[in-house]
Amino acid sequence: METYSNISNTKMNSPGTGISSAASPCRRLEGKVAVITGGASGIGATTARLFHENGAKVVIADIQDTLGQAIADELGENVSYIHCDVSKEDDIINLIDTTISEHGILDIMYNNAGVLDGPLGSILETTKSDIDRVVGVNLVGALMGAKHAARVMIPRRKGCILFTASVATAIAGTASYAYTASKVGVVGLAKNLAAELGQYNIRVNCVSPFIVATPMSAPKEGDVPKVEAIAREMGNLKGEVLKAEGVAGAVVYLASDDASYVSGVNFVMDGGFSVVNPTLMRAFKLLPQ
Ligand code: NAD
Repeated sequence: METYSNISNTKMNSPGTGISSAASPCRRLEGKVAVITGGASGIGATTARLFHENGAKVVIADIQDTLGQAIADELGENVSYIHCDVSKEDDIINLIDTTISEHGILDIMYNNAGVLDGPLGSILETTKSDIDRVVGVNLVGALMGAKHAARVMIPRRKGCILFTASVATAIAGTASYAYTASKVGVVGLAKNLAAELGQYNIRVNCVSPFIVATPMSAPKEGDVPKVEAIAREMGNLKGEVLKAEGVAGAVVYLASDDASYVSGVNFVMDGGFSVVNPTLMRAFKLLPQ
């Protein structure tokens, strides 16, 4: 009979599991080349820092040039900034081609850039221009990012494509129509990509966070405590609030060899919010009225 230690030893010696090559907990992306769209702010900027700490070479892509360049300058030679509006395919082509000419390879493409058109409002007030703008960045931009990443990853038969979706992909009524449509589309896109690109050893996954206080959700000075108070009040998991660092930690895991057999997953980070029905829990008197 195979014992745990036999299994464990077999895995340690077998190529391709990712276990034998797992790097130290602090340098889980050693030598990997990563592109992060929307990397000048919020979740993307925090992930750029954590990728860098973990030994990755990072290309930050964004439209906020001053912020993006400042992070690259601060982190040093293994981090660069490129202007890229993800709603323009030519900008994405330039981003990927410049990354390849500077680093030779692309290991991780994190399609994270996103915009919000406002909170959930009625379908009757939803405008086509909002849908075009939000879907154009969040979904079409992510799709084009994935397309051009795949173009350089397929010949290497290796790679990892990641997306930031949203808790709106797991439960209804949390975000606007345009935003929800764009993020649910991203999850479908990621699954299709996982289906096609698995044959090339390219993994594709999403992270779907609950409320995180970033310049998107907390744009004005002093908004962060208010947004975090709302997140605490509405959240299922009490005593915790999701921060950009928490999302970045999950992205590092999904990007690393520790997740070498993880693909096609929408990793929902919502403290259980989307799986709980508080109405019933209150009816059963298991939650305060
Ligand atoms: P953020 O506003 O701090 O960061 C978004 C970044 O995307 C900004 O730097 C912005 O300049 C960039 N961006 C916007 N349009 C772009 C474009 N056309 N081309 C290139 N870059 C562009 O917000 P964030 O909260 O860090 O958002 C990151 C991702 O997380 C987004 O996809 C967002 O939808 C998603 N998300 C955020 C939350 C939250 O509560 N903050 C929750 C779930 C999902």
